[in-house]
Amino acid sequence: MLPVQHKWESKHGVTLIGDAAHLMSPFAGAGANLAMLDAAELGLSMMNNSDLDEAIKEYEVKMFEYAGEMAAVTKSSMEIFFSQNAVETLSEMMNSHAEG
Ligand SMILES: Cc1cc2nc3c(=O)[nH]c(=O)nc-3n(C[C@H](O)[C@H](O)[C@H](O)COP(=O)(O)OP(=O)(O)OC[C@H]3O[C@@H](n4cnc5c(N)ncnc54)[C@H](O)[C@@H]3O)c2cc1C
Repeated sequence: MLPVQHKWESKHGVTLIGDAAHLMSPFAGAGANLAMLDAAELGLSMMNNSDLDEAIKEYEVKMFEYAGEMAAVTKSSMEIFFSQNAVETLSEMMNSHAEG
């Protein structure tokens, strides 16, 4: 896993998408979805900017925000799964989802 809110300074002509950019624990079912979102966001930024480095920066600002939020979600889910009262907490969560 990479640290939650992991980011880097934008580099000329290169960026990362998917797990390479934001490897997180698999406790939210998010990684593959984020990888596809990254590809779409980077593609959109490249369409909207004639300057490639500006497109990369625009994509990275957005990606750091949504990937950071999801990394925090997966981290707290992982902590629940490995906690002493995992069964009780997960049962409550499932019941709450079923009711909601
Ligand atoms: C147990 C588990 C459950 C998960 N469940 C979900 C889920 O329910 N929903 C969800 O959205 N995500 C889930 N994920 C996360 C998801 O699998 C990843 O986030 C996603 O596959 C990342 O895609 P990627 O293309 O960035 O990387 P990868 O899928 O890892 O693809 C990278 C590819 O690059 C290749 N490669 C590596 N090095 C080189 C090299 N030097 N040269 C050439 N090729 C190379 C690798 O062989 C690999 O094929 C889960 C992950 C795990 C571990």
